[in-house]
Amino acid sequence: MIIVTRPGITAEELDHLRERIEALGLRTHMSRGEQRTIIGCIGDEARLREVPLAAMPGVEQVLPVLKPYKLAAREFAAAPTEVQVGNVRIGADAFVVIAGPCSVESREMLETTALAARAAGARILRAGAFKPRTSPYSFRGLGDAGLGVLTDVRSRTGLPVVTEVLDPRHVERVAEHADMLQVGARNMQNFTLLEEVGRVHRPVLLKRGMSATITDLLLAAEYIMSQGNMHVVLCERGIRTFETATRNTFDVAAIPVLKRETHLPVIADPSHAGGRRDLVPALSFAAIAAGADGIMVEVHPRPEEALSDGEQSLSIEEFAPMMERVGELARLMGRAWESSKEMFVA
Ligand code: PEP
Ligand code: MN
Repeated sequence: MIIVTRPGITAEELDHLRERIEALGLRTHMSRGEQRTIIGCIGDEARLREVPLAAMPGVEQVLPVLKPYKLAAREFAAAPTEVQVGNVRIGADAFVVIAGPCSVESREMLETTALAARAAGARILRAGAFKPRTSPYSFRGLGDAGLGVLTDVRSRTGLPVVTEVLDPRHVERVAEHADMLQVGARNMQNFTLLEEVGRVHRPVLLKRGMSATITDLLLAAEYIMSQGNMHVVLCERGIRTFETATRNTFDVAAIPVLKRETHLPVIADPSHAGGRRDLVPALSFAAIAAGADGIMVEVHPRPEEALSDGEQSLSIEEFAPMMERVGELARLMGRAWESSKEMFVA
């Protein structure tokens, strides 16, 4: 249930409303827009019927949220949610590029990649310390040593870092090192993990499962948010279809559909979507044109030597010129690109 307030509601009226709802054992979530505040009510809605909410001062409308997801639903927030990762904003007017190698391989390679990515305009560094691999015999990441490398490179470059957490038992540990936690495609419906990342104070990057519908993705976000963590960014990374020319099929329509369904930021991962280096620029541009709030791109100083996902990683020499066009397109789409780039001009 959401309560839409009248423009001009006083602070006392708002407090009074919140107290009445919380006295019934429900939680409230305030979302302030330019004109109106939306009070989201979380809990046993039947109890709300005991209170004549619609007649209370300052209330314009009381509406049920009809979608299966509630906290993630568009209606729940008065404005698009902005998620803050370190000193970087994602969502609303901000457009962000997240870049880095698939895996943390060594401090030297991560630092080289981070500096080059930063110079090209990327604002968040991404690399996996714990890697979910299809084969148990593939490189599965440096684990805890990789987390140490990430914090090291963050302090040397000023870039906030995002890294994947695979196991509910690792959440606290990864959260101590990372500015944002990634839940990967394979874990999108690991409900124990979702609830665990919902309990920590770190934003979460939630990737769409390869066989997940858009509703499945939004309900996965709901698992996180229902534990109190509202800082979720969704990521379209391609889905499995009958097509074999690409690693996955990039579902570009998911971006505008998600933007209509939810207030959460939506980004795209053109690297895993296509699985091919040559497709990364085209898929990135398509994502921006479709309204994405950012892209996440795999970049490696020597892709041919990468320990994971080398075939879809851009070299630094390929990433930098692509970023010129990314900036132009982001501006064309009305995004605050300049301000985001300026912060890190070395
Ligand atoms: C990754 O981001 O490197 C990764 C493993 O992606 P996904 O979970 O989308 O497969
Ligand atoms: Mn990868």
